[in-house]
Amino acid sequence: MSVIDLRSDTVTQPTAGMREAMLRAEVGDDVYGEDPTVKRLERHLASRLGFAEGLFVPTGTMSNLLGLMAHCERGDEYIVGQEAHTYKYEGGGAAVLGSIQPQPLAVEADGTLDLVRVAAAIKPDDFHFARTRLLALENTMQSKVLPLTYLAAARQLTREHGLALHLDGARLYNAAVKLGVEAREITQHFDSVSVCLSKGLGAPIGSVLCGSAELIGKARRLRKMVGGGMRQAGILAAAGLYALQHQVERLAEDHANAALLAEGLCELGYRVEPVQTNMVYVQLGPQAPALKGFLAERGVKVTAAERLRLVTHLDVSSADTRKVIEAFAAFRLH
Ligand SMILES: *Cc1c(COP(=O)(O)O)cnc(C)c1O
Repeated sequence: MSVIDLRSDTVTQPTAGMREAMLRAEVGDDVYGEDPTVKRLERHLASRLGFAEGLFVPTGTMSNLLGLMAHCERGDEYIVGQEAHTYKYEGGGAAVLGSIQPQPLAVEADGTLDLVRVAAAIKPDDFHFARTRLLALENTMQSKVLPLTYLAAARQLTREHGLALHLDGARLYNAAVKLGVEAREITQHFDSVSVCLSKGLGAPIGSVLCGSAELIGKARRLRKMVGGGMRQAGILAAAGLYALQHQVERLAEDHANAALLAEGLCELGYRVEPVQTNMVYVQLGPQAPALKGFLAERGVKVTAAERLRLVTHLDVSSADTRKVIEAFAAFRLH
């Protein structure tokens, strides 16, 4: 029985074309700056997003960490969403490894941070306080797309207060495809952006941090420090390049499947939150573990969360989506 895995878009298998690109990749020692494929990936994404340079790293967690550490010194502070990945899901790395204090703020229903509250959280220049240096946003934020007008306003606010602006763009391309714009329409507002190649884009490993030459120079030094200097990493970079060249537009299919799934579950009477991109959130309550077991027997893999997150990706077809709806229907009746 083939399994439909809806736990995350990180579970994708490399496609045949991607494996072929990996097999053929020209490689060298990237710590010596000699891997042509890594360099190609870094240049490709940086120029596509409107930045001077890019830096290939193994994970999005490292990419965000290096971004925060390159912007902020010890004793500095970054403003971030209470539910943001860079605050909540990265082991406190910015604080532990960078001595950077987070100032978390509640995330609004649309995935933004209220800019009035952001402004109020910026600390005055006073030796009692940490120095507020950076605002970190996330887009998509739990699958919600931040409006372009909001990004422009965030840019203006950070400029007025002398803050840097970082984007955790793990799913930047989901946002761009949903808005129907080039990704640089989004990234133009930021000083640095972290993009995951291993989420919906379907690469097995890798993220890229983009920014100015100075910022990426600092991040490159920090990458070595945290053990992220890789050698013949072109094999992995080739997968990322392939993803950026062939697997961006198809994200629209994931969004369509998520919409189909939401509609189907809604018709069955499940409490489904509005869907924007590739995630469907269902309010299940205490039946979550029973549902997980029931679906597993029918080849559908989900977590047991009471607020269940179902994620569509390149290994979930529209036929699979219909099968999932049928399995949920059977659970209603059993
Ligand atoms: C997945 C993810 C990251 C990075 O995660 P890694 O597993 O370290 O690659 C960062 N931000 C968001 C929003 C993510 O979903």
